[in-house]
Amino acid sequence: MKQLEKTMTIEHDLFQKIAGHEQVIFCNDPATGLQAIIAIHNTTLGPALGGTRMLPYGSVEDALDDVLRLSEGMTYKCAAADLDFGGGKAVIIGDPAKDKSPAMFRAFGQYVESLNGRFYTGTDMGTTMDDFVHAMKETNFINGVPEAFGGSGDSSIPTAQGVMYGLKATNFFLDGTSELAGKTYAIQGLGKVGFKVAEQLLQAGADIYVTDINSNLLLKMERRAAELKGMLKIVGHDAIYSVDADVFVPCALGGILNDSAVDQLQVNAVVGSANNQLHRAEHAEKLRNKGILYAPDYIVNSGGLIQVADELYGPNKARVLVKTKAIYHSLLEVYETADNAYMTTVEAADRKCKKRLKVQRHRSNFFTRGISPKWNIRH
Ligand code: NAD
Repeated sequence: MKQLEKTMTIEHDLFQKIAGHEQVIFCNDPATGLQAIIAIHNTTLGPALGGTRMLPYGSVEDALDDVLRLSEGMTYKCAAADLDFGGGKAVIIGDPAKDKSPAMFRAFGQYVESLNGRFYTGTDMGTTMDDFVHAMKETNFINGVPEAFGGSGDSSIPTAQGVMYGLKATNFFLDGTSELAGKTYAIQGLGKVGFKVAEQLLQAGADIYVTDINSNLLLKMERRAAELKGMLKIVGHDAIYSVDADVFVPCALGGILNDSAVDQLQVNAVVGSANNQLHRAEHAEKLRNKGILYAPDYIVNSGGLIQVADELYGPNKARVLVKTKAIYHSLLEVYETADNAYMTTVEAADRKCKKRLKVQRHRSNFFTRGISPKWNIRH
C-alpha cells in the first residue's frame, strides 16, 4: 500500500512538472543506446519547432528540466517572430564525442516521424547536420538542412541581418533616425554572427570596439577593417563592458548581463544575438533603472529561426530577408509598449507573445485544426 502511494506521488510530481506542456515523449532504443526526450510545449500557432541537443546530462531529471525549459522558450521565440510554429525541443542523453552513431540518429528519426508532423527538429548544441542526414532517412520533419540537401544553408546570415535591423530600430527609438554611422558599437564575440555584424557596421560607416577569446578572429577582423578603411579598436575580454560606446552588442555567450557587467556598462542600449543574455530576470529592471535600453534577445536573434521555419516552403533567401526585416518593427513595438506601460522591454515582449497566443487559441478552438501537409512542401 505504501509503495503504491509512493508511486502515485512520483507520478503526481511528474505531471505537475509537465503541467504547462502538451506532450512529453521518452524515447528508448537499447539497440542503438538512444535515450531521448521530446517535449512539445504548445502547438497553438502550429506544429512544434525546436532543435535537438545532445549532452551528457548528470541525470534524466536534468535532461527533463532542460527540455521543458527550452521547449517553452521556443513557444515565445516563434510567437515573437510571427511564425506559424509552436514550441518544442528534444534532448539526447549522451556524450556527443563518444556516444553518437548513424544508427542512433536513424532511430531518433523514427521517433520524430511517429509524431506525424507535430514536431520539427534539427541541430542544436552537440548535434550536427551530418547527424540529421541520418535522421532524414527516416523522416521529413527535419529543418535547418544544408543547401546540398535542399535546405536554406547558413542561418547566421539572417541572424546577423536581424541584429542589424535591431540596431537600426534601437537608434530610431532613441534618436529618431535609424542611421548606423556616427555611432560606436562594442561587439563581444566575432564568431559566425558577430563577425558579419562587425563587417556590416564598418561598411555602414560606424566605429567599433571588438573582443574575442580567439586571436585568429581578431587578426581576421583587423585585416577586414583595413580593407574597409573602418575604425576598429580591439579591447580585452573584460574591458568590452566599460568602453565608451553607444551600443553594446553581445554576440558570444549567454548570462553575461550580470550585476558587474551592468554596473560597468556606459552605453545607451544593448542589442545583440547571444541567447539568454540576462543573468537573471531582474537584470532587465537593473538595465532600465540605469537608463539602458535592452533589446530582448529572442526578438533580435530570430533571423536564423525565421530561415529555418521558412525552409519548409522551399529555400528562398529573398523571402527570408523580407521576413527578417520585420524584426525592426517588432522591436519598435516592444520599445513603445514598455515606454507607455512603464515596464521592462522583456515584460513588453512577453506580453506581445502572450497576446498572439491568446488570439490564435481563440481561433483554434473555433475551427477544428489538424496538421496539414501544407506545412512541408517536401512531403
Ligand atoms: P560562434 O560560436 O560562431 O561565435 C561565438 C564567438 O564568441 C566565438 O568566436 C568565441 O571565440 C567568442 N567568445 C566566447 N567566449 C567569449 C568571451 N568570454 N569573450 C569574447 N568572445 C568570446 O557562435 P555564433 O553562431 O556566432 O552565435 C553567437 C551567439 O548568438 C550565441 O550565443 C548563439 O547562441 C546566438 N545565436 C546564434 C544564432 C546563429 O544563427 N548562429 C542564432 C540565434 C542565436
